[in-house]
Amino acid sequence: VIFDDYAQRWRSSLDGRAALFDFGSVTENGRRYPLLVATSPGPSTLILTAGFHGDEQAGPLTMLSHAPEIVRYARARGVGLRLYPCLNPSGFEGRTRYNASGERPNNDLLRYEIAPGVWKGEIQSDQSFLRFAPTDLDAVPKETAALARELGGQPTPAASLDLHQDAFIHGALFYAYVFGDRRAYRPLLAQSGALVPVLRSCIVDSGHEPGTDVRADQEGFIACHDGSITDYYFRRGCPYTAAIETTTETPTAEADAINLIWIYGFIDLVAKQTESPPRPRSPR
Ligand SMILES: [Zn+2]
Repeated sequence: VIFDDYAQRWRSSLDGRAALFDFGSVTENGRRYPLLVATSPGPSTLILTAGFHGDEQAGPLTMLSHAPEIVRYARARGVGLRLYPCLNPSGFEGRTRYNASGERPNNDLLRYEIAPGVWKGEIQSDQSFLRFAPTDLDAVPKETAALARELGGQPTPAASLDLHQDAFIHGALFYAYVFGDRRAYRPLLAQSGALVPVLRSCIVDSGHEPGTDVRADQEGFIACHDGSITDYYFRRGCPYTAAIETTTETPTAEADAINLIWIYGFIDLVAKQTESPPRPRSPR
């Protein structure tokens, strides 16, 4: 997919339905790629992101195909949206994991000081640390720096969902990185598991730092402090934050359906969170 075509279809499908911006741009292959965002107002907000890894095409395609209905549904439920449909445009266009200069736009929003002066980009969920801090924006890929500036200027959302795919494991499978109350996620995991098997009790190796074992637990969930947007919003106190992973070998229709299960599920979570309790009847 030529990214200009993607951007044009994105803008025309949402024209008049959401506010459309570029939050920045990157130059790769001698061309300028816009960094797209669409917003829709509401008392509390869900942030949806996709396309950090360019070879994981399902997320950006779900966002493109379904954005109007996602915006309509969120608006009906009183949920605001910030949609970032394709965060690594040159990687998406070239179907490469990283951007066209080989930089890695995922996982660089935070880092951890594990001993005085020793900083790591990723720690195990049970590993202690002294503090975490935003990564130096001069030292991260341009897409990450633009996104960090963009998100840093905004209030913490009510929820954050990031759409990924796993290009390393064979077969059609699903698992999810999550923080927060897992009871909220179990119904979404069960619905996803009705479409493709859930990867459980298994080490996943989707580009994590060497020496860092990342394991899907017996349910298919992973808690991973890797400096990704999921970890970043967990550290900012966002109550619901997840990154979902279909494998890239999952048929497109199933991957799209699973993305929608989680997108609508997260809109419902935010709606439930902000619904005011029923008002007591006034005495007669
Ligand atoms: Zn990914």
